[in-house]
Amino acid sequence: MGLIYYLVTVVISVILFLVLRELMCWFFKINERIQLMEEIKSIMRTSDEQEGEDAQDNEKQRLTSCPECGEKIEGTDDDFCGACGNSLKSE
Ligand SMILES: [Zn+2]
Repeated sequence: MGLIYYLVTVVISVILFLVLRELMCWFFKINERIQLMEEIKSIMRTSDEQEGEDAQDNEKQRLTSCPECGEKIEGTDDDFCGACGNSLKSE
């Protein structure tokens, strides 16, 4: 009889542990937090990929002449046109 009593105690303990675990997860909103963090992670990943693509596009579409006066731009890193001072940054 002692063994059955022991087994019943173990089973009840396991069930109690699982129920309390769910209760704690619900009480501290752990499930919600994990879901929110997963959402944030996926949003950040997609925005990172988009930023990378945007940067590549900007590199390709680098201006070679001023859109304001048509003057050819010597330095590709220049932010302003040397002839008219127009900003070359595309914002
Ligand atoms: Zn210019």
